[in-house]
Amino acid sequence: MQDKNINRVSGITTVDKDPWEDIRNSVKSLCDDFPGEYWRKLDSNRSYPEEFVEALTKAGYLACLIPEEYGGSGLPLKAACAILEEIQRSGGNGAACHAQMYIMGALLRHGSEEQKNKYLPKIASGELRLQAFGVTEPDAGTDTLSIRTKAEKSNNSYIINGQKVWTSRAEYSDLMLLLARTSNDKNNKRTEGLSLFILDMQKAKDKGLTIKPIRTMINHATTEIFFDDLEIPLDSLIGDEGKGFKYILDGMNAERILIASECIGDSKFFLDKMTDYATSREVFGRPIGQNQGIQFPISRAYAETEAAALMVERAAELFDKNMPCGTEANISKLLASEASWKSAEAAIQTFGGYGFAEDYDIERKYREARLYQIAPVSTNLILAYIAQNVLGLKRSY
Ligand SMILES: Cc1cc2nc3c(=O)[nH]c(=O)nc-3n(C[C@H](O)[C@H](O)[C@H](O)COP(=O)(O)OP(=O)(O)OC[C@H]3O[C@@H](n4cnc5c(N)ncnc54)[C@H](O)[C@@H]3O)c2cc1C
Repeated sequence: MQDKNINRVSGITTVDKDPWEDIRNSVKSLCDDFPGEYWRKLDSNRSYPEEFVEALTKAGYLACLIPEEYGGSGLPLKAACAILEEIQRSGGNGAACHAQMYIMGALLRHGSEEQKNKYLPKIASGELRLQAFGVTEPDAGTDTLSIRTKAEKSNNSYIINGQKVWTSRAEYSDLMLLLARTSNDKNNKRTEGLSLFILDMQKAKDKGLTIKPIRTMINHATTEIFFDDLEIPLDSLIGDEGKGFKYILDGMNAERILIASECIGDSKFFLDKMTDYATSREVFGRPIGQNQGIQFPISRAYAETEAAALMVERAAELFDKNMPCGTEANISKLLASEASWKSAEAAIQTFGGYGFAEDYDIERKYREARLYQIAPVSTNLILAYIAQNVLGLKRSY
């Protein structure tokens, strides 16, 4: 029997009041203005949710992790997790703008005071968008250390040449965080030849930067980017030359925990929808949810979601206390992406033929939920991380 004092709003069952309940309720009511119909229309045209991103920005949610001194609200990662989870649970898609939450961390932690003062207040107010993160390259794939896009120093600038792929939201962002090779010195450690830059894409367009959209099975505004002798000022470099890979690694825990929260939200979307449908849909004179063949996959998906949510909660807590959380961040992303997929599978089975009809939003969310076992890091690489860094097994690649 369900105890009335138990708070289920947070996604995990706790006896304490969820500190982010107010934020969750406000995000929910903002999302009510962007119902399934809104997302379906964008999905069919593969267009960007401008109005939604604008509304989130105006409400300050995309600046929640930016410290107050730079115009944000300086909230902990747990608050950002609650925001993204609610967006996904409402049937929306935070992937249109989630990157700003975690990639600004590189600027915050490693940027100069001048860079932070120049960009962060404008990012917080929405005057500038930092949504694009250029890391992946066609030939390197998961092996980031073998990227070849070059940034060569000349007198007063860096000259960029090369290509990125899967750079999402580039067409809708003013700024890009770019990882490029500044040294090929064989004496360096493999991790030391890469540097991180903040690039003004508006200035770069038509001056050596070309963006080509990639149409995918989801509405993700992803692109490939070509750099052809693009000249950028020396002060675009973030932190020290050669430390770019370390800087992006620093941000990966936040990224994984936030994406895991989105997966929890997706999973709850499916759970809400399929329990309602299983209750109302009658075949053979009774609700389909009365059949164990329908009930049990839903129960299993629910149980796995609750377990994954606990791990996300724990990872976020460690992160907010500045404690090591690489293992927990990776495990939360692994478990949450699998729980949301389990829910997606159960939902499409529960809806039967209607799961394929666009109007129910199941097929759209089903396609969207699949991404997170591939990006931003694939499940295999997380398993390799656990094997190598937690269990002490031999490196497999
Ligand atoms: C919609 C979308 C949006 C994206 N957005 C961005 C973005 O904004 N910025 C960005 O930089 N990147 C982005 N990515 C890229 C994403 O991070 C990569 O697709 C992902 O890291 C995998 O790289 P890959 O596609 O080259 O796969 P590959 O590296 O070619 O790998 C293919 C498969 O082989 C497996 N594999 C490879 N090596 C090993 C190994 N050693 N052991 C076991 N298995 C292995 C992988 O797990 C994967 O399943 C996006 C991708 C997608 C699809």
